[in-house]
Amino acid sequence: MAKFLLIKKIEAEIPETLEEKLHLNDELIKKPYGDMEKEPNLLDLKIEIAKEIFKKCIFCERRCEVDRYRESGFCRVKSPLISCAFPHYGEERMLVPSGTIFFSGCNANCVFCQNWDISQYLNGEEWSAERLVNWITEMRHIIKNVNFVGGEPTPNLLYILEVLKKLNIDIPVIWNSNFYMSEETMSILNGVVDIYLSDFKYADNEKALKYSNLPNYWEIVTRNHKIAYKQCEMIIRILVLPGKWIEEDLPEILNFIEKNLPEAKVNLMPQYRPEWKAGIYPELSRRITGEEWKRALEILSWYSVRCIEKY
Ligand code: SF4
Repeated sequence: MAKFLLIKKIEAEIPETLEEKLHLNDELIKKPYGDMEKEPNLLDLKIEIAKEIFKKCIFCERRCEVDRYRESGFCRVKSPLISCAFPHYGEERMLVPSGTIFFSGCNANCVFCQNWDISQYLNGEEWSAERLVNWITEMRHIIKNVNFVGGEPTPNLLYILEVLKKLNIDIPVIWNSNFYMSEETMSILNGVVDIYLSDFKYADNEKALKYSNLPNYWEIVTRNHKIAYKQCEMIIRILVLPGKWIEEDLPEILNFIEKNLPEAKVNLMPQYRPEWKAGIYPELSRRITGEEWKRALEILSWYSVRCIEKY
């Protein structure tokens, strides 16, 4: 059964302060599930935590602390905007058809973003929680899972929880993200997400800052991968970038996965295209060559990681 349905069977009081709520959240997730849905339950507690954080937003490590009911922070997301939602056949084979919901806006500015039209510009419309619940319900006979992506799902965490509160069909939840979430968000996601689909971009903080405007990337993203690995299944996507990245970043990323996340599945991806502002950076302004892809596969073969089916 999907985790978000199971945590509806754990009874929860709602304490006063955010600290107390977060503490209780971490305790209740260790409890066994009851036989039937409780009221209020652990999902309600998570929604209350997310509501408080929304007023001083720290959903991600930007930690803008803005009141999202009044203004937006770095990601420019105030109310969630959905750019599109459809059964996606281009995700990993074991996940498709995947009920993919594309949110507009992102907490990163990757110069080569492959979805820049929705991540860097706010394109889309507001969907009520009921509308998305109806869409998922109507699509259930086609889709294997519900896949929250963007842009980035993290700024939309409160809305996603409110959708799951109203959703009563058994469907796995995928969190398809850049993994720049705060620790508080990682705690909220524990017991909500069935599969993490992460996008692991760099082993080098200088590149992360230069190309994605993400400070302290390695520390934050490796921390979140370790937390996520304890929570549920993981698929880690590694988009192969051209040039030095293959020698400098790929081995370190794979070494980290081998040592810390041995059961996680790895998807090494060759389809990089120089989108958005990539043309400004000569080293990123081309696709990878056949030789570079062969070298990336060779480096992959040095590590004992679990690759998805295509290698
Ligand atoms: S989600 Fe992140 S970037 Fe957006 S307002 Fe919150 S802390 Fe800032």
